[in-house]
Amino acid sequence: MLLSLENIELYYDHVYALKGVSLHLAEGETVALIGANGAGKSSILRAITGLRKPRAGTITYRGERIDGRAPADIVKMGIAMVPEGRRVFPLMSVKDNLLMGAFSRSDKAGIARSLDSVLTRFPRLKERYGQQAGTLSGGEQQMMVIGRALMAAPKLLLLDEPSLGIAPKLVQDIARSIVAISRDEGVSVLLVEQNSRMALSISSRAYALSTGTVALTGASKELMTDPRIKAAYLGGD
Ligand code: ATP
Repeated sequence: MLLSLENIELYYDHVYALKGVSLHLAEGETVALIGANGAGKSSILRAITGLRKPRAGTITYRGERIDGRAPADIVKMGIAMVPEGRRVFPLMSVKDNLLMGAFSRSDKAGIARSLDSVLTRFPRLKERYGQQAGTLSGGEQQMMVIGRALMAAPKLLLLDEPSLGIAPKLVQDIARSIVAISRDEGVSVLLVEQNSRMALSISSRAYALSTGTVALTGASKELMTDPRIKAAYLGGD
């Protein structure tokens, strides 16, 4: 396993957000995390990236315990996160935003190769290379923050709601990019989405969260037609 969470419990003060979550991700896999607002999806990502320390349970990445480690160490180990809400540096250029993603690296030639590959993958970013990031459209900003995460040369990419607030046509583009990134770069992906249909369509397995616990898990193809998933996460159709 590339990543394993075992019985993770996470609290904000006295209120629990995760109540014994176990989750696994194999090398090369794309796994979706679906669930309603407040189900605990972002909390799982915060626990993995070290932004919140679990009260109980273990997180193992490539055979090493990472729970309790500092976020910067976790990035260095190859875990990059695309946060919810596209946190761009609005006054900085697209170029400088992308380069920020390589802050933990010192291999100049490798960084140049990553930059090249991000600009080839997202030609729109190449066209807007010198533009202030705050003036990009929502979809372009999303591409840029995905590109920024790739600049860390990750083994595991965590995506927090990449389709949120994006025009439907662009959601398809972003979904295709995620598939291509995983295929071309051998990156494993943990995809948090409220757009369950999109998430299930591009993942091999999924976990459905409900108030801090895993309510259902299985192959995405099967979950797509599961009546419980249809009723609770796919708008009942
Ligand atoms: P969303 O899709 O709305 O982002 P989510 O599934 O990602 O939801 P989390 O953000 O993980 O959910 O939140 C899980 C629970 O923890 C919620 O009840 C939320 O109100 C609570 N919570 C999250 N962050 C904090 C915080 N900083 N302080 C207190 N409670 C928090």
